[in-house]
Amino acid sequence: MNNIYHTVVIGGGCLGVASAISLARKLNSSKTGTNVCILEKSVLAGGISSRHSGIIRSANASIQAATFAEQSNEMWRNIKDFWGIDIIPETPGAIWIARNDKKEAAKTWIDLEKNLNKSNIDFYRVKSKEIKELTNNFIRINEEHEIYFHEPNAMLFDPIKVRNAMYHALDINNVKLKENTRVTDFELLPGKKIKKIKTNNGPIFAENVINAAGGWSPQIFDTIGVKIPVSLQPVYVSNWLISNKKLPMQFPIIADYINLSYFRTWKNGELHIHQPRDRSPASIARSFAEEPTSMKGADVFFDSSNYTASYSETNKYAEMIRDRFPNAAPCVFNGGYITFFDITPDLKFILGKDKDVKNLYHCLGAGQAFKYAPIFGELLANLILGKKTKIKNFNLDEFSIKRFYKPEMKKFWGTVQGSQNTLKVREQATA
Ligand SMILES: Cc1cc2nc3c(=O)[nH]c(=O)nc-3n(C[C@H](O)[C@H](O)[C@H](O)COP(=O)(O)OP(=O)(O)OC[C@H]3O[C@@H](n4cnc5c(N)ncnc54)[C@H](O)[C@@H]3O)c2cc1C
Repeated sequence: MNNIYHTVVIGGGCLGVASAISLARKLNSSKTGTNVCILEKSVLAGGISSRHSGIIRSANASIQAATFAEQSNEMWRNIKDFWGIDIIPETPGAIWIARNDKKEAAKTWIDLEKNLNKSNIDFYRVKSKEIKELTNNFIRINEEHEIYFHEPNAMLFDPIKVRNAMYHALDINNVKLKENTRVTDFELLPGKKIKKIKTNNGPIFAENVINAAGGWSPQIFDTIGVKIPVSLQPVYVSNWLISNKKLPMQFPIIADYINLSYFRTWKNGELHIHQPRDRSPASIARSFAEEPTSMKGADVFFDSSNYTASYSETNKYAEMIRDRFPNAAPCVFNGGYITFFDITPDLKFILGKDKDVKNLYHCLGAGQAFKYAPIFGELLANLILGKKTKIKNFNLDEFSIKRFYKPEMKKFWGTVQGSQNTLKVREQATA
């Protein structure tokens, strides 16, 4: 019978692709035949992976996540060894700008520096003079109220080149890619094991299933009672034309936590900006409660009629550029859009075995997953094949889906359920 695989990956974003390639290589699929398949409802990297900014950086409050990111940075640099193809990054490093309120905020950043250094991750406080040198004096700084850090290993990819390379990597590693194939339901065996995956193109069978459907996961798995706490947080992106005579050639990534923006050069001559995730509990709760950012909203967000950049958001970014890069003027708006991050309640990713369904594994990013793709692929492939992952102090417990089923999460699940994640459900639950 056709359509039987060792592993089926649901979702052709960067995490699905990475998981499929790692597994296919470990199964030696190019010699033994196709045994890994990706099911993608639209086109490869047509979900959130079509929106990322291509930034690879490691600094993260979770030291385990930072260690994964550092390992992944190394893998991206040598991606041919892991995916069989070359993708050449730019390596400008990153500058971090944080508030120096001489109290908690500064202490948090200095503690972060210490903890990252303990894990051998290069992230150092630097003086304003060095920041000026690194940006060729392009940046305005405010020494009295800001502190600065340098992450020299941070790097950049061109997202379109990565997408093209992913198609190629799937081909050479003999991964079957089924685009325009939407998972609609599952059939379970007794003892909670997925037997059959139902799609608009007929049934598919697999020993193992990887859920890499990101923000769409709650919707897909609700049919078999697997609740996955992922929702959407809107983010605004904009690109600006700056004179080539002004924008330095090797311009570092700027993680500006005063203006709450990431800046990078884009297509040789533009400045690209997006906001980081909003970490406030109120904003996270809103994302899980409001209909427009629920999973029902995912397809709405990707409707081309919704790709509008509002005047007020655009103007906000124009002011931000004027403030941070006064020498950039005049700059010209060259396109912007609203998209979303897929987020979990604690903004950490969900990685590893499902709590109940025996042959189901999750690989979801929680907002910043492009950079982790190769390492997550390796971790998942090793887990499925029962192989060891050679990372120091390696522990996946922090990212297990089980953390969302602790007794204190009962109230959360009473409010937010399965596919809906909506205010309406909340009203029903409290009625
Ligand atoms: C503006 C912006 C900038 C970002 N910049 C960065 C950055 O610089 N660095 C970084 O590391 N991260 C960045 N990110 C985050 C990164 O883009 C995402 O974390 C990552 O792309 C998520 O990949 P994924 O594979 O988990 O999900 P997705 O790419 O969303 O993939 C999920 C796939 O599942 C498919 N799917 C859904 N339902 C079904 C179904 N029923 N059947 C089959 N398939 C289905 C979807 O079509 C989709 O293609 C950024 C995100 C945004 C929004």
